[in-house]
Amino acid sequence: MSKVVKLKLIFMFLCLPFSASAQWFKHSFEVMGTMSHVEIWLNEPSSKLDSSDSDIEFDTNQNEQAQVLIKSVEQEMFRIDQQMSSYKEQSELSLVNREAANKAVPISVELFSLLSMAQHISEISDGAFDITYASIGYQYNFREKKRPKQSSIAKALPAINYTAVVLNKEQLTVHFNHQGMKIDLGGIAKGYAVKRCLSLLEKAGVKHALVSAGGDTGLLGNRYGRPWLVGVKHPRSEDKMAVHIPLENEAISTSGDYERYFIEDGVRYHHIINPTTGDSARKVVSVSVIGKDPTYVDALSTTIFVKGLKEGLSLINNLPEFEAIIIDNQRRLHYSKGLQQ
Ligand code: ADP
Ligand code: MG
Repeated sequence: MSKVVKLKLIFMFLCLPFSASAQWFKHSFEVMGTMSHVEIWLNEPSSKLDSSDSDIEFDTNQNEQAQVLIKSVEQEMFRIDQQMSSYKEQSELSLVNREAANKAVPISVELFSLLSMAQHISEISDGAFDITYASIGYQYNFREKKRPKQSSIAKALPAINYTAVVLNKEQLTVHFNHQGMKIDLGGIAKGYAVKRCLSLLEKAGVKHALVSAGGDTGLLGNRYGRPWLVGVKHPRSEDKMAVHIPLENEAISTSGDYERYFIEDGVRYHHIINPTTGDSARKVVSVSVIGKDPTYVDALSTTIFVKGLKEGLSLINNLPEFEAIIIDNQRRLHYSKGLQQ
């Protein structure tokens, strides 16, 4: 089925009557420096969750089942944060940043596969996505309105180079071929966390769920008979939405220049860094990417943001599994091929 037809069908679903035989459970919490949400729709007790394939044990009470599931989502998010955060000294990622320029560091299978995915996106984007952006990125502090001087950017710029991150698949190690190199997974870890949480819910037999972390949202099934309606924030008006997208069984990630930023002399400095310049990327103001895999969708929204409108659309139009909505500097909306009707 073509994407256009699929999208039309999804719009038609909007008109279906709402099913009354479900209960809705919701929870929000703070993790990874942002707000996370989980919403689960459970059937009436007559059709219990199929937990035969799950690690989670359920009580018969539906409310308790929901609370157990929500707790497990929360724990999974915190676990990934503990492991992948560059802000936590004890994290596996911080250990890598401390040691990998001196020797090959053995890492977990999980971190290895995320680093491999990041590497893959760097390759297909000619380095627009590059986790070594952090070699300069850590010199920015958006809360304190601090940014590196041009001289320190120039000095650290050679350390932004994903090809100097050497992954050894046999040994499961990572080694930096450059002193002063740092990595950060802020552009991919939230999507990965969403993916893990969705699969945990799916394994537990949940058919309808939403999990989000900041601008990354993953959806299981539909919203009980209708598609989920995911809003893309208006980039310059906090309470408004630029557009709502009906989606089911998909993930969507939005990268914007309005999340972490400050303005100095009329110039906006924000958290998405162009690896070529070490400066904030300014070709567009918001990018949303839609696709099945929340990890890829997260990394690709950051990637397309750096690429800008023309190159960004050309990249996404060459990836048949993904679609994008881009808001340019004049606040005009642009859609990738599969979303155009
Ligand atoms: P958010 O973190 O607000 O969800 P994004 O998914 O766009 O937004 O990720 C932005 C984050 O990605 C930054 O905070 C930073 O940690 C990281 N990042 C910034 N620039 C790059 C880049 N060029 N390549 C990879 N990661 C980046
Ligand atoms: Mg992203």
